This record gives sequence, C-alpha cells and structure tokens, in this order.
Amino acid sequence: MNYDFDVIIIGGGHAGVEAADVSARMGKKAGLITMDASKLALMSCNPAIGGIGKSHLVKEIDALGGLMGKAIDATGIQFRRLNLSRGPAVWSTRVQADRIKYNDYVVNYIKEQHNIEVIEALAGKLLTENGSICGVLTENGDKITCRTVIICSGTFLGGLIHIGPTKIKAGRLGENAAYKLSDSLDELGFELGRLKTGTPPRLNGDTIDFDKCELQPGDTPIPYYTNDCNRPDFKQMPCYLTYTTAETKAIVSKHFNDSPIFSGQINSTGPRYCPSIEDKFYRFADKERHQLFLEPEGNGTNEIYPNGFSTALPEEIQHKAIRTVEGLEKVEITKPGYAVEYDYCPAYQIKPNLETKRVSGLFFAGQINGTSGYEEAAGQGLMAGINAVLYLEKEKPFILDRSEAYLGVMIDDLTTRSTTEPYRLFTSRAEYRLAIREDNARDRMYRYARRFNLVDEAKLDAFDKLVADTSTEIGLLKSNRIHISQLGEVGERFKRKDSISLEEYLKQPGVTVHDLIPLLGNFNGDFSDNREILERAAIDIKYAGYIEKQQREINKFKKMENESIPEQFDYTDITGLKNEAKEKFTRFRPISLGQASRIEGITPGDVAVLSIYLKKHKDTITK
Ligand SMILES: Cc1cc2nc3c(=O)[nH]c(=O)nc-3n(C[C@H](O)[C@H](O)[C@H](O)COP(=O)(O)OP(=O)(O)OC[C@H]3O[C@@H](n4cnc5c(N)ncnc54)[C@H](O)[C@@H]3O)c2cc1C
Repeated sequence: MNYDFDVIIIGGGHAGVEAADVSARMGKKAGLITMDASKLALMSCNPAIGGIGKSHLVKEIDALGGLMGKAIDATGIQFRRLNLSRGPAVWSTRVQADRIKYNDYVVNYIKEQHNIEVIEALAGKLLTENGSICGVLTENGDKITCRTVIICSGTFLGGLIHIGPTKIKAGRLGENAAYKLSDSLDELGFELGRLKTGTPPRLNGDTIDFDKCELQPGDTPIPYYTNDCNRPDFKQMPCYLTYTTAETKAIVSKHFNDSPIFSGQINSTGPRYCPSIEDKFYRFADKERHQLFLEPEGNGTNEIYPNGFSTALPEEIQHKAIRTVEGLEKVEITKPGYAVEYDYCPAYQIKPNLETKRVSGLFFAGQINGTSGYEEAAGQGLMAGINAVLYLEKEKPFILDRSEAYLGVMIDDLTTRSTTEPYRLFTSRAEYRLAIREDNARDRMYRYARRFNLVDEAKLDAFDKLVADTSTEIGLLKSNRIHISQLGEVGERFKRKDSISLEEYLKQPGVTVHDLIPLLGNFNGDFSDNREILERAAIDIKYAGYIEKQQREINKFKKMENESIPEQFDYTDITGLKNEAKEKFTRFRPISLGQASRIEGITPGDVAVLSIYLKKHKDTITK
C-alpha cells in the first residue's frame, strides 16, 4: 500500500467517488479511504437518481465530466421526465436505479482509474502541521501522509440507528460508524451538530398484489442523462402507486409514542421534505391517506422500496402497519425501516471552494455539510475534488455563482446560512432558474470542463457543432413563413395576416416541437431532423423575452458578486455597522458584497454600510 498521496478522500459514498475520480483525472495521486471497498456509491435509501432540482445537479455533474450521470444511465431500470406540463426551467429527469448494479458499476470504474488507490480502513484522526492538513491516521494505526484531505463521511460520523427503542452504533444498518473521526474534528475546534434521516422497510415483491396498485411506466424516448447513452436491448421496469388506509392511520397514530422520533429518544432534526410515516400522520392529522410508490430495487431482485413509508417504529408495528396498505395485505418485510442520527459540521465553517476555514487543505463534501441526497453529495464531491487540485497547484478556486449553476446555488446557500435541518435542493431555491435549466447544462459547464480538461475534446467539438446548428435552425424558423390556413385553430388567432413565420407559430401558447415537425417537410430550407436541435431552438424562441429579462437581472447580480471582499477582512472597525452584522460577517466571511447580502439576518442597510466602507477604503484594503 502507498502511504503518501496528493489528495486523501475519506469515505467512498457519492461525494467521495466523484472527488477521487476528478482529482485523479486532473493528474493527482488520490487515496480513497473507505470502510468497505465493495460499497462504493451504495444508495443508502431511495434507489433513484434525480427528481426536481436534483436532476439539474446530475446534468451539471455530467457536463463537468463527473461520474453520476454515466453510472445511472448504464444501470437505470426506469427513466421519466417530470413537470413537462410546466416551463422548461423545472423539467426534471428521474431515474429508478438498479441499486446493486449502480454500486458495481462505480466499484469497477474506480478500480480502472490508475491514479486512485482504494484503502479499506476506518479513518480515525486528522493530522495537521502549522494549521494545514498533512495526513490521516487510520483506526488500526496506519499513518498516511498527504497535502489535502476531503472528508465525505455521509451519515457515518457518530452514526446512531434507531428502530423503536433499539439503538445501534452504525451509519447504515449492518455497517460501522465513525466515532473517532468526529472526536478528531472536535479536537481541531470544529463545531459539530446533529441531524437525522430515515428509511422505509424493504419488501418482498413476490408477496405484493400489484393488481391492486396503479401502474407507473417509464417514458419513451428514454430520457438518458448523458447525451451519448445507448442501450438497444434495454426494457424499462414499471413502478406502482398505492395508498395507505384508515387502518394504517389508526395503527401508526396509536403507536406514536413507540417511535423514537416522538418518544424523546431522538432530538435532532430530519429532512422536512421527506417526513417519516409517523410524522405525516401526526403533522397532517386531517389527511386520511398518503400515497406510496412501490419501486423495484433492481432487475435481478424481487425487493421493493415503498417510497413514502420511512419509519423508525418498532419492527412488529412496521409489519402490522404496512400490511394495511392497499396491495400489501400479505407483504413480507425483508429489512426493517429505521432512523439514523449523525454528526455534521455547520457549513459556515467552509469557504465557497469547500475548504475549511480552520484547517488549510482540508475540504468537506456531502452530508458532513448538512446536505441530504446523493446528487447534492456528488455535486459537492466533484467541486471539492477540483478545488483540492487547484489548491495544490496554487490556482484560483473554482466557484460557480447562483446565476450559472445549481451547484453554485447549493454551495452559496450552505455558506451563507446556518443549516439547522438537512438541506436538499429544489428548483425554487434558484432565483435565475430560467437561465440554469437541465437542457442547457453543457452550455453553462463545458467551458469549465474544457479549462480543467475533464471532457473529451471530441465531445466538446460535437457540442460546438450542435450550438452552431441550433443557430442555423433558428434562422430557418425565422425566415420561413407558413400560410395561416395550414395552422388549424392556431391560424384563427391571426385573422389579419395571410402567413406567419415558423418562429411566430412556435411562440404560440400550446404549440410544441411535436406540432412543428410535420410542417417542416413543406419548406425548402435544410431543416434539421435532430430532435435535440429542434428542442433547443424551440426553447430559445418561445422563452426569448423571459430569458432576456432574466439576463438583465443576472447582470445586476454579477455586479454585486464582482465586488470582492478580502478573506481576512476586519469588520470590527466599521462605524455604523450593527454588532450583530459584524458578528455575522466575521462568522460567515463572505467573499463578495453579493454574498454578504445573502447572509441570513443581514439587512439591505447593513450591506449599504459595508459597501460605502469598502468603496471609501478601497486603496488601503488588500484583496
Ligand atoms: C437511513 C438513511 C436514509 C436516508 N434517506 C434519505 C432520503 O430520504 N433522501 C435523501 O435525499 N437522502 C437520504 N439519505 C441520505 C443519502 O444517503 C446521503 O445524503 C448520501 O448518501 C450522502 O452521500 P455522501 O457521499 O455524503 O455519504 P454516504 O453515501 O453516506 O457515504 C459515506 C461513505 O463514507 C464512508 N465513511 C464514513 N466515515 C468514514 C471513515 N471515518 N473512514 C472510512 N470510511 C468512512 C462510509 O463507509 C460510506 O461509504 C439517507 C441516508 C440513510 C443512511
């Protein structure tokens, strides 16, 4: 085994594998210390990647050369696009995973990367010298030296599982927990907090009556995440929808006090948007039933994940309650549901490049920053990996802003607010969401992928051609006209005209690419038959006005972002600034006036005082 690395990554979950992969591909020697080398990127809970907001992250990760999109495209069992009845800003992809095949794919992929060494061990102590990280001591006493460390410890830091009154020290059922690493962070002076999450029981699909449930098929054409995926013989698997009953409500309500969530055994906060079944019946007491999605865990298994039935009730109550759900009257539980509490480090302690403020060269990514979700973790892992390499090369950090990427929105949210509950991404968190859509992730990220050499040159060139072809297509749609008699009901909206351009036709509410395609054969221009080009052109045309308006707002936003504040700036001398604002600025250490304005509790008045001070003293402030 090698005992010296450029980058050590602690934890081979979704954050850890992206961090290891990207730092290795950027030319650094990466050591991935993880408890169990066969469990890389194992999904702890829901066997699915994406969904609203999260899918935007997956597209950005993929456009930056990351792993998640490739892994799920190769191993997904059902692909769907959500929100298509709404605007393109919120169109999202969600893919049901084959949990074990996804994990195998990542294990094999990492094995093939020559710059990554996987070390099966429990990292116990962080070693520092003069305020910088210099190594890691494993719990079995091995000393591994390095220049940077990225901690991606997930739900394992101080992990404690609860099933009814039973408590087990573990980050996931049947696995270990990392207590010594928590102690080491505490000794270094980091503030640690406690959060919780939970998971439903898993079910034996052979004991489910699917005829009583509603079928949920996948979509065609298959909406893969990556643009070059092709699985010719692949057949999608269905999911099913069912409901809890009055009897489920009665049983769960009767046993509220047997759940550690209510009995006082757990005090930490869980994900608000992913409540347990006992939480749902408690908080929405007037709601008679809740929907559950029955999702296969994979192709070669009969195990089913009942999405919506997360619980920490005692096992026998879980069993009783789930058998009252429609179609699950005879169901057998294969694994019980449980809740897990874990340590995290409130993210005011990291900079926007994910490096800790306290120890140079030490980075945090994933659940340790208070987030929840595979995609959030993977995105941070990728960003931390790139930034660890830039740190080693003494280059400027890679920071995406809120108008460029959901990755930027997430990291900005984390570093300007105190996380007191698990953070998950939604499209509603992005104020410039029309500019940062799923479909334009490559437009936004490829220039960075090119800078860091993370995507093949051929792919980048093919994309340049796609952009050029889209422009040509838009030109053709603008210059070709169609007689209104050919437009049916839509034509009636143009009584005073003989003809309109295809561009104008596409702009009409309700008209889609689907309506346009049959008309294109009537024209002489060289229209593309590439659906992607048509879709891109259509979005550009239909939303041009809104996109321009958003661009004006982004320009204003960028102005504030460009007013940078030095890292060690002393706020104490600013007369007229409230003490509370001074404390907040000192705690969060914003990198720009824009970021300062978003810190929780900061008022426009505080920002105005800071702005005037920065302008007045610009010659004496060192940046
Ligand atoms: C029970 C449960 C329910 C969940 N429910 C949801 C949910 O409903 N919705 C949702 O979005 N997310 C949920 N999650 C969270 C989701 O699993 C995580 O957000 C995601 O996996 C985080 O990725 P990560 O890379 O940060 O960590 P993980 O995927 O947890 O991976 C951490 C890795 O680090 C390793 N590790 C940790 N410490 C050490 C150490 N000291 N030495 C060596 N190796 C170490 C572990 O072995 C593991 O491989 C749930 C998690 C659990 C456990």
